[in-house]
Amino acid sequence: MNICINDKIFGIISDVVSAESTEAYVIGGWVRDCLLNREHSEKDIDIVVIGNGIELARKTAKKINPDIRVSVFRNFGTAMFRWANYEIEFVGARKESYRPASRKPVVENGSLEDDQKRRDFTINALAISLNKDTYGELLDPFGGRDDLRRKIIRTPLDPGVTFSDDPLRMIRAVRFATQLGFSIEKKTFEALAENAGRIRIVSPERIITEINKIIMCSKPSGGFRMLEKSGLLAIIFPELDNMKGVERKDGRAHKDNFLHSLEVLDNIALETDNIWLRWAALLHDIAKPLTKKYSRETGWSFHGHEFRGSKMIPDIFRKLKLPLNEHMRYVQKLVDLHLRPIVLSQEEITDSAIRRLLFEAGDDIDDLMLLCEADITSKNEKRKIRHLENFAIVREKLREIEEKDAIRNFQPPVKGEEIINTFGIRPGKKVGVIKNAIRDAILDGIIPNEHRAARDLMIKKGRELGLTPVDTNDPGT
Ligand code: ATP
Ligand code: MG
Repeated sequence: MNICINDKIFGIISDVVSAESTEAYVIGGWVRDCLLNREHSEKDIDIVVIGNGIELARKTAKKINPDIRVSVFRNFGTAMFRWANYEIEFVGARKESYRPASRKPVVENGSLEDDQKRRDFTINALAISLNKDTYGELLDPFGGRDDLRRKIIRTPLDPGVTFSDDPLRMIRAVRFATQLGFSIEKKTFEALAENAGRIRIVSPERIITEINKIIMCSKPSGGFRMLEKSGLLAIIFPELDNMKGVERKDGRAHKDNFLHSLEVLDNIALETDNIWLRWAALLHDIAKPLTKKYSRETGWSFHGHEFRGSKMIPDIFRKLKLPLNEHMRYVQKLVDLHLRPIVLSQEEITDSAIRRLLFEAGDDIDDLMLLCEADITSKNEKRKIRHLENFAIVREKLREIEEKDAIRNFQPPVKGEEIINTFGIRPGKKVGVIKNAIRDAILDGIIPNEHRAARDLMIKKGRELGLTPVDTNDPGT
């Protein structure tokens, strides 16, 4: 028996198929990953039915448990339901033909082979029979099994046609190659480069889904290199493409910022599955091309690239259809702060500089340190070790100061309301001035991060501003 259909669910579907005298096959990612022995966290099962997919979904769900809710997408002729960790999608076998200006195919009912032909890659077109007479048989008309062995991404039909029909498949080719550690077969890759321009007809939402999957791979750099080489990157993400290359003046060259960014992304991928930290790694130097300068005396510089970079993030997120929410602000913050620990590690470290960094980074300080460590891409081992040791000192200092002063989740010990009540004033500029003075005094180590000291300073500052306390009770103690 084919081990890919050992799960009980396949037996149930098979019984229903037989009772309904129709035909069904499990196809696509499930079969591919099973033959690769690849763990799949989500248990997505795709079933193709020679006939009515929606009907078979309903009947199967009913047989398992009449309470299961089946979602029907009539426009696509598909239906799916969830059961015991599985997400099972049923689709009627179809034959597709495309017109040049659109991703939307003309669809008719078809045979299993018609359906396999419309699949993106040979390794995704593998099907296993769930019909009683041929149960467990592998149907592999395009040599997908061989391609799995040879670790090759190849389209079932002419790649030029496959990519032109649905250009998203070009990015999917890169995504699967990166995820599985495969290479894209030569002709397939050539077609990819030829058709790169067609990606413009694909919506950014669908593109970013694939890009995010590339970013989440264990070694994402390979994917971005392929995107660059094929010309896709220049179209879908010009800011990143723009970072590539090395300029030389007076015999002095700067590093290739594209390759450097990819190395940082690979480094951080070893440390975290936080997709936003991975995005921050990819984008940390994004403003280098904008800020690049050369001077005879000091060579190449990229002054202010961290600040300019953080300002570029909202625009990039908007164009790529990434979320414009706290995740975006997190990426902005890390890009903005990514040089601070380096500067600290190169100078005499003062407590107040550490407090300021803790205050600005807040709970993201550990992620920032990971980013900084990933940013060390020197090929000189000694230098690399020296940088790491310096960061270890910064980390130790951060820990010490945080333990002593609790700045990470800084909450002002005197709140605006207390200032208002104490001086009997309205909310306004003076309240802000006093609050900032207290915060700065704490960060600079002039007063401790405690209520009494902060309140004393509040009274002093208020007096300097011409205010008189009307309520000298000390509500905080
Ligand atoms: P994973 O779920 O791990 O991303 P998958 O192979 O299941 O991998 P899906 O995007 O879930 O990928 O698609 C399911 C199947 O549908 C694929 O295996 C493939 O056969 C087919 N498919 C998906 N998108 C396309 C497309 N754009 N063109 C052709 N076939 C596609
Ligand atoms: Mg899937």
